[in-house]
Order: sequence, then structure tokens, then C-alpha cells
Amino acid sequence: MALLSPEAARDLLQSAVERKFAILAVNADSHAAVTDCLEAARACDAPIIVETSLWQLTGRSYGAGDPFLGLARYLADLTALANSERHREVPVIFHTDHIKGPDTIRILSAAIRGVPLCASTISLDSSEMTEAENIEHICRLCEIAREAGMPLTLEMEAGVDAGVTEIEVAERVLSAVESKYPCYLALWAPGVGTQHGLSDKGYPFSPQAVAAHQKRASEICGRPIGVALHGSSGLKESDLREGVAAGVAKVNWSSESLLIRSRAAQEYYAGHTAELEKTHPRWKATAMDHGVQNFVSGRYVPKVMERIRILNGEGKASLRR
Ligand SMILES: [Zn+2]
Repeated sequence: MALLSPEAARDLLQSAVERKFAILAVNADSHAAVTDCLEAARACDAPIIVETSLWQLTGRSYGAGDPFLGLARYLADLTALANSERHREVPVIFHTDHIKGPDTIRILSAAIRGVPLCASTISLDSSEMTEAENIEHICRLCEIAREAGMPLTLEMEAGVDAGVTEIEVAERVLSAVESKYPCYLALWAPGVGTQHGLSDKGYPFSPQAVAAHQKRASEICGRPIGVALHGSSGLKESDLREGVAAGVAKVNWSSESLLIRSRAAQEYYAGHTAELEKTHPRWKATAMDHGVQNFVSGRYVPKVMERIRILNGEGKASLRR
């Protein structure tokens, strides 16, 4: 199975920490985007993380308003693609990213228990939670997995988008979870100076904070814990390389990815106006979804490959232990 189980995902993330590479985690919002991610990973012989936030689960391509239907459709599509002959050698992790709001626990419980397929790794958005609420929610997910007899691999976050997180926060929140529910945590996402979104202002990204948090998180848990980097779109290539060298094992990529895809679609429609006249002999081929998606893919896949290479992910598909 190319779509990794929670246990296999944990092993792969541990390998990434030990061998100093990071796995690109693409926030993919359509079937075509997911296909392009797996194509890029295959071309680079690299593992890939495909992740979904609430807005994809409820988006038009998946749940159309219903996050549970969205989760089932996303997992069914990704599993079929990941287990296909063409992509069988690509290790694929399915991750829940930035799940928030009143349905958080119900949605993540479904992802842990299976719909009927299960997510590889789980995280939730703690940006509107207190530290105690964050701990309580993560412990609740561990309890759900334990009660259901299901494996679980977690990313825990605190203070993403809020500057650099103090190391004492790692002490408090990771210890609170690990002492009660050992071995579920695999990734730690503290604030390391990055911001979500696209901006041309300088980011106070701190590879030193990555290194300190990675070291302390690993000491607390007694095994290699990788840092998950949110808000990578505005970072320079040199920042990404330094981050990976300092212990980043997962790099989330959303805003820049969306920009590349939407600009390519804009270019396609701007360049094919005449073909979209109903009298044009090629209007149908131009108008169908495949027309624009194929064009977008041509622009997008090389960018995904470039990103994988910057993170030192190329050639790492065979590292699964
Ligand atoms: Zn994020």
C-alpha cells in the first residue's frame, strides 16, 4: 500500500529527521492538484504529504459543504491514486491540516477511526485555543484512538504565526501529552518566525529556533521528533535549506501553490479566448476541465519538483523502513 498507515508515516518522518530531509506537504484542493503532487513525487523518487484543511473538505471538489463526505471522498480518491500501478512506489502520507471549529473532534475522530479509510497523520488548528484547550484536544484524540484500538500519529502545534515560541511551551504541552499518551507524537510545530500567506515583507524566520525546538521535543519524547514548518510560502530557498538542516521534517505549502495554479489557469483562459467561441472547431477540447487542468499541470509539476529538491527529498522514496 502506497498510502501510508499511521505507523509507517511515523517511521518515515523519523527517517526524515535522522537523514536531514523534509517531506513536502501540499495543501491540495482538487483531484487534479492531488494528481500533480503524486506525479512530481514520482518524478523525484520522493515521498510526499498530501494534506487537507477544513476548506478543502467542505469545498466543491470533495464534500460540497459536508466535511465528513469530503473526508471520505478525499481519502478514497487519494488511496486509489496512491495504490495505482503508476504511483505504487511513492510513499504518500495523508495529513489533516488546520482542522478547526466545533466539529474538530468529530472530523478527526472519523479520520482516526476510518471513513472507512484512515488518515496517516493528524493535526488540528490550535490558533484559537488556550494552551490547556490544545492539550485537552490532543489528549482527546489519543483517547479516541486508544478506545478504538487504532494507531495514531500526531503533529502538535502551538504559536504558529505568533513569532518564535518559547522553549518552555514545548516543555509544557509536549510533556503533558507524552506522559499520558506515549509514542503518538511525531511532529512539533512551534512558531519559528514564519507567517501563513503571501507577503513580500521580510520574515524573521529563525533556524536557531527550529534547532532548539527539535532538540528539546526529541528529548521530551525520547525519540526523534521533526519540526513541521507552517507558512513556508514567503521563505527564501536559503531559509528552507537552513530549516531542513536544523530539523524541519515537514514543510507545509499552500499559498504559493495556489498562486501558481490560479495564475496558470488565468494564463490558459486568457490565451484561449478564441477557442472558447461556440463556433470554434476546438471549443469542446478547450472548454473541458481536462484542458485547463492539463495546462496547469505543465506549469505546476516542475515547481513542486523544485520544492521537493530544495528540501532534499529527491531519491528518498526508498527509505521506508
Ligand atoms: Zn499551516
